[in-house]
Amino acid sequence: MSLQPFLQDLPFLSAYYVGRVPGMQFPADRQEALKAQIPFFKKTARELFPAAKSFFCAQEVHGTEIAILRGSEPQQDLIPNIDGMITNGPGIVLGITFADCAPVWIVDSQRKAVALVHSGRRGTEAGIVPKAIQLLQAKFASQPKDLIVTIGPCIRPPCYEVDFAKTIREQAAQAGVGEIRDEGICTACDLEKYYSYRREKGKTGHMLGLVMLRSN
Ligand SMILES: [Zn+2]
Repeated sequence: MSLQPFLQDLPFLSAYYVGRVPGMQFPADRQEALKAQIPFFKKTARELFPAAKSFFCAQEVHGTEIAILRGSEPQQDLIPNIDGMITNGPGIVLGITFADCAPVWIVDSQRKAVALVHSGRRGTEAGIVPKAIQLLQAKFASQPKDLIVTIGPCIRPPCYEVDFAKTIREQAAQAGVGEIRDEGICTACDLEKYYSYRREKGKTGHMLGLVMLRSN
């Protein structure tokens, strides 16, 4: 299993993404593939975050709805019709699935709040990253200069004609974000490590982006 820790310079949170799991086979239907993976995702989250209070995963629709989680919500494996979550609550694990669209972590290093969103071509066009930044400002008094935006593995040119990762970087810069990180990893270039919805013609699994604020 390809597992990558992220943002290790920020001691107040833990972040990972889970890449391809060798040997797993998936049905062609995207939602069925996701449901088949949820038990594995929950188990992985429990192992990676033994102190977690709850785990929420977005059931994405390539839209811009973002759930605000404050820690009192009942546990729910999949929250339907959202493409992002924000929280400032310690012990809440946020999970975003992806397989070419970009997982984007937006961390407020001062107020210790975080957003995790799913921004592919459509979500980027609709501006889910700027929307998440606005929500962090409105709900947690975040200041853009304190934000660190990190773009995870996603499909990129030349494997895909639309450079939405570049657009996300531009959106973050325009919003006044203090730091933008992007390692430039393309999901379609390395099927040993990643799933690519486009390159595998839809018959593929999902990767999982994760983040949790620590309580200490
Ligand atoms: Zn590529």
